[in-house]
Amino acid sequence: MNTISSRALKHQRRHRKNRVQIDNRNDIVRLNIVFFTGAGLSAESGVSTFRGKDGLWNQSDNIRYSQVSSLATDLAECLVFYNIRRKTMLKAFPSQAHYLMAELQQKYHVRVITQNIDVLHERAGSHSVIHLHGSIQFLVPKGFRHPKYRLPWFDDINVGDRCPRTGSQLRPDVVLFGEKIYDYRQARRWLCEADIVVIVGTSLLVEPAHSLLVNINPVAKVYYINPESQLSSDLPFPGEQIIDGANSGMSRLLDEISSCWQ
Ligand code: NAD
Repeated sequence: MNTISSRALKHQRRHRKNRVQIDNRNDIVRLNIVFFTGAGLSAESGVSTFRGKDGLWNQSDNIRYSQVSSLATDLAECLVFYNIRRKTMLKAFPSQAHYLMAELQQKYHVRVITQNIDVLHERAGSHSVIHLHGSIQFLVPKGFRHPKYRLPWFDDINVGDRCPRTGSQLRPDVVLFGEKIYDYRQARRWLCEADIVVIVGTSLLVEPAHSLLVNINPVAKVYYINPESQLSSDLPFPGEQIIDGANSGMSRLLDEISSCWQ
């Protein structure tokens, strides 16, 4: 079982104390809402999930090219695979749920932590987005997977396309199995500071989803939107399940937020 780290606990305590001080000064406190999203959210935009009914995980290419070893053993095929995936994702449009999350920024302090590599949150207008698993926005040189080496991904990437700074072959800036995820600490900090956490469209099967969500601020209200219900004992957080698709689940959630949290 995952336990919350002492660093996260300290951060939660400090954050709660600061918010109490702000409350006492009668300043307007904007609620901190964190959305934690997965492939199910983009399913409503037509992008397939990994583990759903028509999930990509049943296809052998997806399994092979999700491994870091494929960059060494099947580089050309791997690049073609991601070129196609990127184009499919760019053809999709943000769903109502993506737009509703972005709209909430007008009233609340909204942050998004996503496992998705598509850019539908940004295209819907969300400003603060962490892509734990990277995104199709960028390329990085092999052996230099770090934000400081990122280059914008404008066109298909081919074997022989090299980074001008390092001379190394360029590859998609998506996190493959065997690689370190991005921004874990910042995501954990956001979860510690949240008043409301809404988890949408994720099976929680791909780490670090499960271990990260252990760090949710214990006083935060947590909602889990997914058409498939889960045993509460399988969830790494106590919360309310909204058993519904992302679009209708988000509409139901907004009714609840506006009636309970003015
Ligand atoms: P997952 O495929 O493991 O699980 C998808 C979840 O979405 C399931 O629990 C399913 O019940 C739920 N779901 C299906 N339809 C939904 C709907 N209409 N509304 C809400 N929920 C719905 O996805 P995951 O947990 O995000 O982990 C998969 C990994 O695959 C991640 O690492 C991610 O990077 C990657 N992935 C990304 C994309 C994308 O960028 N759009 C697509 C496929 C996979």
